[in-house]
Amino acid sequence: MPSNLKLTFLGTGEAFDEELPNTSILYDTGQTRLLMDCGYSIPHQVWKQSTDPNFLHGIFLSHHHADHAFGLPAVLTRMWETKRSLPLTIIGHAGTQEYVHKLMEIGYPTLISRLEFPLEFIDVHAGDQIRFRELELSFAQSIHSVTNYSIRISYQGKTTCYSGDGSFSEATKALFKDCDFLIHESFSWERVVYLHASIQELLEMVKEQNIKTYCLIHIQRDFKKKVWNFLKDFQQEPFKLLVPKPGESVYL
Ligand SMILES: [Zn+2]
Ligand SMILES: [Zn+2]
Repeated sequence: MPSNLKLTFLGTGEAFDEELPNTSILYDTGQTRLLMDCGYSIPHQVWKQSTDPNFLHGIFLSHHHADHAFGLPAVLTRMWETKRSLPLTIIGHAGTQEYVHKLMEIGYPTLISRLEFPLEFIDVHAGDQIRFRELELSFAQSIHSVTNYSIRISYQGKTTCYSGDGSFSEATKALFKDCDFLIHESFSWERVVYLHASIQELLEMVKEQNIKTYCLIHIQRDFKKKVWNFLKDFQQEPFKLLVPKPGESVYL
């Protein structure tokens, strides 16, 4: 029997990929739907999943970059227009509330003060463990050009981690340890930029941290076409490799 925990990749791309929507994942237990990141090409992907204004319960923002957050004004405004009634929770690091208010003010001035549903914010700090509905969440900071939090979600004995952007740090390595499913930005094969992750280093880390499935997203747009040529030698490893396509769902 398939489990009721479903992950849907609304987008898997880096910021400037002409083919793939931005990286964004819908975590769905059947009772709770948490959207992880909401870049500028994501609103339409959310509405294709459902036009119900109450569809999402929470949105986690890993960091304040446009390809991870600039979809929010459209998503929130359509919720207002279609008369959402349930509270919506936005989870992010300190300063996220102010950032979302600014984004909304630029996109649809004065609208945030006219929302007819409660918009709630949970500010999290590295090392925090919180409960959101039936989910246990914890966070750690990666190495990126702005503050980025990776997230670990535990639900009914299954653990899923999502990196957001950046290279892994000692703290995110510890966060990912023994997880069932790691979704990690995998920008390039070798390290070209310190602030993005290299697949070579990730493959080592995944083995070392006893991670069961390593799912590659946010791959540099030219490199993504040949990523499997590089990965083919690693298919015998004790972990599973996955390069999901936009719209694809995985049951855990
Ligand atoms: Zn990004
Ligand atoms: Zn970024």
